[in-house]
Amino acid sequence: MSTKTSTHEFQAETKQVLDIVVNSLYKDKEIFVRELISNASDALEKLRRIQLTEKEIADDNLALEISVSTDDTSNQITIQDFGVGMNNDELVENLGTIAHSGSKDFMEALKTDGEKNDALIGKFGVGFYSVFMVAEKVQAYTRSWKKDGDGYCWESDGSGSYTIEGAEGQRRGTKLVIKLKDDFSEFAKEDRIKEIIKKYSAFVQFPVSVNGEKVNTVDAIWMRSKKEIKDEEYEEFYKFQSNEYEGPLMRMHFSADAPLEINSLLFVPKRNMEKMGMFRNENKVALHCRKVLIDSEPKGLFPEWLRFLRGVVDSSDIPLNVSRESMQDSELLRKLNQVLTKRFLRFLNEQSQKEEEKFLEFWNEFGNLVKEGAATDFTYKEDLAKLLRFESTALDAGKLTGFDNYIDRMASDQKEILFLFGKSRESIESGPYLEALKARGLEVLLLTEPVDEYVMQSIREYKETKIISADSEELKLEKLDQEKEGDSLNKKDTKSICKWLKDTLKEKVSEVEVGERLIDSPVCVVGGEGMGGASARRVMKMMQGMEAAMPAPSVKLLINPFNTIIQGLSELVKSDESTAQLVAHQLLDNAMASANLMDDPREMIARSYEALEKITSKNK
Ligand code: ADP
Ligand code: MG
Repeated sequence: MSTKTSTHEFQAETKQVLDIVVNSLYKDKEIFVRELISNASDALEKLRRIQLTEKEIADDNLALEISVSTDDTSNQITIQDFGVGMNNDELVENLGTIAHSGSKDFMEALKTDGEKNDALIGKFGVGFYSVFMVAEKVQAYTRSWKKDGDGYCWESDGSGSYTIEGAEGQRRGTKLVIKLKDDFSEFAKEDRIKEIIKKYSAFVQFPVSVNGEKVNTVDAIWMRSKKEIKDEEYEEFYKFQSNEYEGPLMRMHFSADAPLEINSLLFVPKRNMEKMGMFRNENKVALHCRKVLIDSEPKGLFPEWLRFLRGVVDSSDIPLNVSRESMQDSELLRKLNQVLTKRFLRFLNEQSQKEEEKFLEFWNEFGNLVKEGAATDFTYKEDLAKLLRFESTALDAGKLTGFDNYIDRMASDQKEILFLFGKSRESIESGPYLEALKARGLEVLLLTEPVDEYVMQSIREYKETKIISADSEELKLEKLDQEKEGDSLNKKDTKSICKWLKDTLKEKVSEVEVGERLIDSPVCVVGGEGMGGASARRVMKMMQGMEAAMPAPSVKLLINPFNTIIQGLSELVKSDESTAQLVAHQLLDNAMASANLMDDPREMIARSYEALEKITSKNK
């Protein structure tokens, strides 16, 4: 074989990562041990899977173990695994570029976030390169598991380049020889390394030894009985498995025998990184079969909207020798998905009753993903709708309620669940719609996030009760007893002002009529159902690019004959019709704005100047 040395430059992005890592003042240098042990463990895990399907494996008798040795006279440590190893191309690809997960996430986070680099290094570990925080030179001796492969030695000081040369007599797997910088000789001490490994690597699924002495107990916590596991153990496992620095918000440890054999341990993180605008969560619930890792990021194990979940699912029903690709579209995965999703939604609902505060914390972080599910995944529509929370006129500002509690509070003759959308609670409260509903004792859910109305439109009903916007024409309100006939415009004038308004506003409104729902305000609009309806229009406005496709609004104008402006207008029509027309248009604009349906205020502004001019010139 060739023992020629080749020199390579690190890829530009890699250099950037290396530069940040090496020059950072990050305190917890010790995390490099965790990163290297976890890489060794990954390599063994990969080998274990390959052993299931391949017969021709180099050094097939070698145990799946990780051996660490320290030497404080030469200021050196070595970490050896008998895992998959790497060939020449893989060395270039894996250690020379950052196509791999850890460092790539790190780069993404750097791009999108102003968070301090130190915190980011802690969060992502940045994998293999973290060794250069403490090393002046690293050699990776490695040989691929493939029988006809050669051995290589990769070497670098972490500055700009690395070399690869042939190395004779290598066994399968990878041996890292790390020459420490003088300042970091502590890591060449046996006790220090043992302490670090115990801290970070308690859950590695392979035996780890330091200078020949075993330091961990291999333990699949998810297979054990709940009763025997302490909270701290769960927490440590979570931190280890999802590479987190803080404990989880919630956990669900669940076992079943039928219809599938499942042992699963699921966690909800404390924070939703997506909400912070960092990047999109990816499903990171690892799939195991009888403790053997099948896939650490299986696609399709959970619905998209549960992409924040972390943890482990173990099922002995999975055939061990299945390939990842065929696993991904298997019937079995779909079944697992169904059982687990149902069970997890039930768990969330139980939490909302037993531990409301915690549930609200969850809602605060992950509510948007629940909404995403409710709006898009009809299989779990009812279970998801059950979890939705909104502010309500029945509760103080800041307090939240769900559909079940709303229904409990409904009077026997109330037919629909009502909601109103607006920019804030205050803006809904000051609009024209709430007054009549309040007067009739009807509770209204107050929606303030643009996506909320879309969610309501998708769900449409809950437990056979329709959910409708309170500005929808569909809502029929009873006449109130206390309305005083005397202060109203008379029947004849009311009829003619309605007709005049329709003639004046033309196709801008579908109809003009007396509104039972008005108490103080002079006018309001209500929308019909379907694409032209008010609620649908707001949803379409929210979606970019949909505005052009929007049909003309089909709103009905309701007028309040008890209101003095309407009464005044009825007179004005007779004396000064052109001013009356200005008033009519302005009234419609105000009503549209109150309903969040004002598409373009420019026309309104121009007209209101015209009105002001009329008023001011009269007094000249
Ligand atoms: P990550 O582990 O997140 O992929 P790392 O920077 O830790 O990122 O590792 C980069 C890549 O180098 C790994 O994905 C793997 O392919 C390879 N690698 C690292 N250590 C080993 C090892 N001990 N044996 C085999 N391959 C390894
Ligand atoms: Mg790694």
